Amino acid sequence: MPYFLRAPWTDPTSILMLTILEFPDPRLRTKAQPVTIFDKALQDLIDAMFATMYAAPGIGLAATQVNQHKQLLVLDVSEEKNQPLVLVNPKVIERDGEQVYQEGCLSVPGIFADVERAEQVVVEAQDRYGQPLRIEAHGLLAVCIQHEMDHLIGKLFVDYLSPLKRELVRKKLEKQHRAAEAAHA
Ligand code: ZN
Repeated sequence: MPYFLRAPWTDPTSILMLTILEFPDPRLRTKAQPVTIFDKALQDLIDAMFATMYAAPGIGLAATQVNQHKQLLVLDVSEEKNQPLVLVNPKVIERDGEQVYQEGCLSVPGIFADVERAEQVVVEAQDRYGQPLRIEAHGLLAVCIQHEMDHLIGKLFVDYLSPLKRELVRKKLEKQHRAAEAAHA
């Protein structure tokens, strides 16, 4: 099955939409590899990830979620959706404080839960062309970066919940998947 689906609202020759893997798909547990080649294929993947994230709609998407196991994230936590941020090979070099935020995830649709994370992180990464980048993030951006970086090591926000709660989430999503399949049958 192709992992690209054409977005009906875009020029069919330009941006492609990607299929987002959903929990408990085992491919979400894959550890991403560092990006070493910043070629046209990478630029196309980044553009497709932004189109997929904005259409969902979401504020962050890790390559893992679209079955591309590279250390690559796209984010935009702005209200106007005009501050796209690409982080390639991100590393947290400092973390400070704590905050609790009710998180959701495009790979765990319809589920929201409180997760505790650092309030501030300093991240070193590369931009989409391989240039070094350092950002100091607070609040929602810090939450989003930490959440998306977890995807790169195969971790999901539901892993922070109790085993009982995580099992309820899994059952709920399997029910949703069955209902969706029945609707398409
Ligand atoms: Zn997520």
